[in-house]
Amino acid sequence: MKLTKKELDSKLDSIVNCEVFSRALKFKALQHNYSHLNCILIQSQRENVTYVLPFKKWNALGISVLKGERGLAIIVPRFRKVEKKDGTKDDELVGFATGHVFDVSQTDAPPDFLVAHLNRDFPGYPSLVDLSPVPVTERPLRKGLSGYFDSKELTITISGSQSEADRALTLLHETGHYLVWKNKLEIPKELEEVIVESSAFIAASKFGLDATAPSAGYIAGYINSTEDLRKASKVIDKISNSLLNTYERSETYAESNS
Ligand SMILES: [Zn+2]
Repeated sequence: MKLTKKELDSKLDSIVNCEVFSRALKFKALQHNYSHLNCILIQSQRENVTYVLPFKKWNALGISVLKGERGLAIIVPRFRKVEKKDGTKDDELVGFATGHVFDVSQTDAPPDFLVAHLNRDFPGYPSLVDLSPVPVTERPLRKGLSGYFDSKELTITISGSQSEADRALTLLHETGHYLVWKNKLEIPKELEEVIVESSAFIAASKFGLDATAPSAGYIAGYINSTEDLRKASKVIDKISNSLLNTYERSETYAESNS
């Protein structure tokens, strides 16, 4: 089945709901290889979804989808190779097709599957500082300020009076602001906070840090339309992927399930 952009828009219109948006964030934290829009679609189709894979990927892990279970629809963009004027090739979006995935609860996976499959150890704050794209300094900051990114000096400053875990979360957040700046993304300031906080949450969860997802109430203040939702989702995908690429040490965090 092929979905037109119009059909996709109307499906999203019907689920502009910040509760689903923030649940999708927590879900994406476990599975950053699905787009945030797909995480929203998946969350809108079944309660308490935690971890999904396509039928064949479950089989490849030696796990079977239970008889009678229906797949959850996701949107798969379809590209065509086009030749540009200068002779180089580029991918052009030609439409969307529907794919299907199944939640772990729809399979015969053993109870400890998720823990064993997803367990990751936090690499430690010092190693994140080493990998930061801009210099990081620590000093006492006024109360309530945990850190900031300075786009003139190209530095990140972090309040030294926080725990190591909180300094790591702050570093991810401020690196998010750096990435928005570097990619010249034109986003209203308030929406940028939601996006950066969401992206930092996804990256932090992936690193085994115990972070708190922005609440639905917080998000609802900044996302009012399907257009905002699409825009925020797209940028969250971009920023969270860049954060993971920046701070992932390939050996420790190599994707085994992409
Ligand atoms: Zn911020």
